[in-house]
Amino acid sequence: MSKIRCRCNNVLSNIDAPNDIELIVYSDRQWENEINIGIINSIEIPSPKYNIWRCPVCDRIYVFEKGNDVAIKVYALEDEPDSEMLPTDV
Ligand SMILES: [Zn+2]
Repeated sequence: MSKIRCRCNNVLSNIDAPNDIELIVYSDRQWENEINIGIINSIEIPSPKYNIWRCPVCDRIYVFEKGNDVAIKVYALEDEPDSEMLPTDV
């Protein structure tokens, strides 16, 4: 994967290395399963199952599965932040 057009029309690319588009994200479970606590060697860190891209223009988040160039999820910001949103124990 190297270039996509965001729904806001901005072109996103991960050709430059490093870049500010592609995010490397691990779930906590994947991190715990694949990282040796106390001995972190970045060369030995396996590539994650998902690639996450963020559009710097509209802040949409694109989720790609490893080996699939079509986004499986697209997240867009809500128009109004929810001021009622509070942490929950549930
Ligand atoms: Zn965008």
